[in-house]
Amino acid sequence: NKQIVLRDYVSGFPKETDMVPSKTTLKLKVPEGSKAVVLKNLYLSCDPYMRSRMNKSDGSSYIHSFTPGSPLVGYGVSKVVDSGHPDFKNGDYVWGMTGWEDYSLIENPDSLIKIKYTDVPLSYYTGILGMAGVTAYVGFYEICSPKKGEYVFISAASGAVGQLVGQFAKLLGCYVVGSAGSKEKVDLLKNKFGFDEAFNYKEEPDLNAALKRHVSYLYNIYFDGLKKYFPEGIDIYFENVGGKMLDAVLLNMRNHGRIAACGMISQYNLEKPEGVHNLLLVVTKRIRMQGFLVFDYYHMYPKFLEFTRQHILENKIVYVEDVAEGLESAPAALVGLFAGRNVGKQVVVVARE
Ligand code: NDP
Repeated sequence: NKQIVLRDYVSGFPKETDMVPSKTTLKLKVPEGSKAVVLKNLYLSCDPYMRSRMNKSDGSSYIHSFTPGSPLVGYGVSKVVDSGHPDFKNGDYVWGMTGWEDYSLIENPDSLIKIKYTDVPLSYYTGILGMAGVTAYVGFYEICSPKKGEYVFISAASGAVGQLVGQFAKLLGCYVVGSAGSKEKVDLLKNKFGFDEAFNYKEEPDLNAALKRHVSYLYNIYFDGLKKYFPEGIDIYFENVGGKMLDAVLLNMRNHGRIAACGMISQYNLEKPEGVHNLLLVVTKRIRMQGFLVFDYYHMYPKFLEFTRQHILENKIVYVEDVAEGLESAPAALVGLFAGRNVGKQVVVVARE
């Protein structure tokens, strides 16, 4: 049984060598009388939150650290190859927490979700129909309180969560702008996901000016007189990166705007988080800024699944994955998230069947 194990706790940016290949033996049978399942892992999800599980725990995190010398654990899509649990039988496809290894013994499979629809690619359950999808759904519809015609800005917009938030916002009739870290990603936002505007934040020395170019009333009156751009600023900011981007966005928020604080990836590898300088604007602009964790919203999964799958089948929602082949490619794929190497949702294929 090939595995990817955490070598030791990590500080600063994670490196490929922080995770190493290893081998164990595993019986592909559940112990007599247990409710465990044995899974054959097919697709693994690389997610930014996994970085926080590489820290040595100081008790402040919302999630347990990984154990050095043990395989990483994350979301994945797997096939049941043996089961002592009444809800699962051999041959079932499931998604949920599994090990970064060929096969996993899951002692308590209660949180695994049985895959009901296989008319979409199974890998979709690592992203658009899995954890990232529910995050986009609850983050946008529940946390942002969106209304038709509002002006939405999304950072890390071409990633797993961002690409879906943007499409949900377009479906509702919002005006949508996204930022991403390369020309290729900006093209995707505009030409594949249907964003109204997008820019490459790495080429913008002044993020405030970049946002103004897309959101400022005065700029657009002055330069082209068109009303198609944000007239007075941003109603909704879907926050994925934090740091300097958050500061620039605060300057461009409209009164009574909403910020869904989904993640702040620019801060995850810093020893000391950057300060936010413009927080006073939350007061003066009467902004509602709300953090959320997807774990609190899995009761909405069935509703989310029906809605999103239907839109995928009707081609009203599209999806881009970045697929790395083979378990041994998983460390590089995970590390790549923090350098923006992934174009779309980062998935690792362990086996296709
Ligand atoms: P993505 O697929 O968007 O991948 C991460 C992307 O973040 C990279 O591709 C890169 O894109 C961008 N990025 C990396 N480092 C930086 C940086 N220093 N500054 C700006 N951008 C950076 O990831 P997800 O869609 O899976 O996750 C997006 C966010 O949502 C993350 O913050 C994550 O932690 C959060 N999240 C929160 C959940 C919750 O329950 N609250 C659940 C799931 C995700 P680029 O090239 O554009 O820079």
